[in-house]
Amino acid sequence: PELINQIAAGEVIERPSSVVKELVENSLDAGASRIEVDIEAGGARLIRVRDDGGGIHVDELPLAVASHATSKIGSFDDLERVASMGFRGEALASVSSVSRFALTSRARDQDAFRIEVDGGKLQGARPAQHPPGTSVEVRDLFYNVPARRKFMRAERTEFAHIDDLLKSLALARGTVEFRLSHNGKPVRIWKAARDEQAALHRVAEVLGEEFPAHSLRIDYAMAGLHLSGWVGLPTASRAQADSQYFYVNGRLVRDRIVAHAVRQAYADVLFHGRHAAFVLYLELDPAGVDVNVHPAKQEVRFREQRLVHDFLFRTLHEALAQTRA
Ligand code: ADP
Ligand code: MG
Repeated sequence: PELINQIAAGEVIERPSSVVKELVENSLDAGASRIEVDIEAGGARLIRVRDDGGGIHVDELPLAVASHATSKIGSFDDLERVASMGFRGEALASVSSVSRFALTSRARDQDAFRIEVDGGKLQGARPAQHPPGTSVEVRDLFYNVPARRKFMRAERTEFAHIDDLLKSLALARGTVEFRLSHNGKPVRIWKAARDEQAALHRVAEVLGEEFPAHSLRIDYAMAGLHLSGWVGLPTASRAQADSQYFYVNGRLVRDRIVAHAVRQAYADVLFHGRHAAFVLYLELDPAGVDVNVHPAKQEVRFREQRLVHDFLFRTLHEALAQTRA
């Protein structure tokens, strides 16, 4: 199973930021309101994610790192309407097979316990000190897979990937507090945003102060589809094109249909929208979208592509058109 897990890891765990993604998504699934990410040496030496979520009962700790063990999907039917970020039950098994791994957790009304996994070998649960919630420590990523370790880039580069990833997660969940540190130095502190004003403030912090001043608020629902967020007006700044975030049911998505609808709406009204920043949230019935397309989970497939496309196009078109009036 160790080799199988290492192979599975190759698919999902490409670099330190992929580990951070899986761990933070688990924290979000656990209902955390505060998530702390500590990184050392760009993640090559240490990735630690701490949360104040629901925690894991001691009996389930070994299951958490077992392959194909997930607590989030009860039946094949559930797979049709995934609401959680994770659902494959492979992430911790994969990560723990290619690192020196520790999981410490305290479930509600329970004591805290810790398990360690070294290159796939599990060491049983021992009592530990921990506030309610979970900490995962991943040390020496890929230490036992030299071919992978070789592919890690400079500390700065790997950390930049982690920072980018955390930005996208911080925008996805405005009501959660995020902290990020590198080599012991605090790099980001994003406090929980409780109202729309605060949410916009977080967007400004993450995207740069320029954004809100030149943006339009979007909030429109029709036929079971709800689009909200902010669209920036096109600028000459190329950097804005890097600030395009589209979420489907809280999940960052790069999708052809979406990209086309957004581009068309800008092009139609303002001639060029390539350098526009936007942060948009589409909510729809989970049954209307398949997130099970690829392990990296950035792709989705809409059941009714045409409907989604036209809804996005019309909503954005109308909003942008007002800026010319
Ligand atoms: P998945 O997220 O696809 O279920 P993972 O391998 O990422 O699979 O996690 C396995 C299981 O471990 C989860 O289903 C969950 O029950 C538990 N788990 C992992 N991380 C956390 C966390 N931070 N808080 C609570 N439970 C967690
Ligand atoms: Mg997961």
